[in-house]
Amino acid sequence: TSYQSVALIVGVTGIVGSSLAEILPLPDTPGGPWKVYGLARRPRPTWNKNHPIHYIQCDVSNTDETIAKLSPLIDITHIFYVSWMGSEECKVNAVMFQNILDAVIPNAPNLKHICLQTGIKHYFGLFETDTKSEPHDSPFTEDLPRLNQPNFYHNLEDILYEETSKRGLTWSVHRPALIFGFSPCSMMNIVSTLSVYATICKHEKTPLVYPGTKASWNCYADAVDADLIAEHQIWTAVEPNAKNQVFNCNNGDVFKWKHIWKTLAEQFGVEMVGYEEGKEQVSLQEMMKDKGPVWDEIVKENKLVPTKLENIAAFWFADIAFMSENLLSSMNKNKEHGFVGFRNSQKSFVSCIDKMKAYKIIP
Ligand code: NDP
Repeated sequence: TSYQSVALIVGVTGIVGSSLAEILPLPDTPGGPWKVYGLARRPRPTWNKNHPIHYIQCDVSNTDETIAKLSPLIDITHIFYVSWMGSEECKVNAVMFQNILDAVIPNAPNLKHICLQTGIKHYFGLFETDTKSEPHDSPFTEDLPRLNQPNFYHNLEDILYEETSKRGLTWSVHRPALIFGFSPCSMMNIVSTLSVYATICKHEKTPLVYPGTKASWNCYADAVDADLIAEHQIWTAVEPNAKNQVFNCNNGDVFKWKHIWKTLAEQFGVEMVGYEEGKEQVSLQEMMKDKGPVWDEIVKENKLVPTKLENIAAFWFADIAFMSENLLSSMNKNKEHGFVGFRNSQKSFVSCIDKMKAYKIIP
């Protein structure tokens, strides 16, 4: 095959990386046919082996290793950076991104465009922060100024702007809302987290209790399907009108957790208990802290793909989602620039569960 474009997906087993790995090689993907390199630290997981990509195992926080493994890839035309270190620490997150650019830019003469994924924490601040600055009012728009507090998203953007302007490359920054995706190797997958919680409830014959606040149960929320983010990034990669821009990314609709909760209970055949008046938030992380052996048993009983509870479920992340409100972001700028992709959030939630079941990640 002669390829039109050559992608490097950094974080190919993550929540968006795995969607990119699935969509980029398809024959009708814009900008194609695409050759695809995909990189992550751990060995290639079995569920990723169907995708026709070149898998590279590399720890990108290690400068020498990154240069050694990526400098030979001289045909890269597009970089999709969909990774982070799993903590909000600025320095190491910046080093990871800088290492990628230092390894690829000088060696890939046909490099054109870099997609950087950050997120809506840009507008309300990091989860773990001592600096209390006022979050922006929602709906968030891309032109809002940076908050006056450290955020690794600022470091990543600054590296992106500096390196692309030096070399005349184009760029795009993607700020997704909460992501609905399938990957069991993601550090923040809300759908797998809730699916595992529901599965444990079913196994232990306990009801699926909503642990969050009243506000989070009742308010409008938004999310984005991982496949839609992949489509969004591919759109910026090929569309001249989308170059050198920051874009939010959500499904284009709103939902309420009270409705998703019902769907979740139905999907796993468990009895549900919604928010009960007067009840304070209980920590899912605390509730689930001793359930590792229970999950091991469920995996064995159902002959699932082996996973560890702490990898497939981020209960701390659900705790944050279930205390949040007023985090909607605007898709107006996207529409003004010609991106009109959308998903139905309810259907997106269910399709992620279906996919995890089909791949035997959950029973
Ligand atoms: P994930 O946690 O889903 O995936 C991370 C990927 O990067 C994995 O493939 C992981 O594989 C790889 N990786 C991690 N560390 C290294 C390393 N040192 N070297 C090589 N590969 C590495 O990522 P997300 O898509 O969730 O996160 C990307 C950005 O999106 C973050 O800034 C996040 O804040 C943002 N975001 C995420 C949301 C969500 O709901 N998940 C919502 C909105 C924004 P391995 O572990 O094998 O290395």
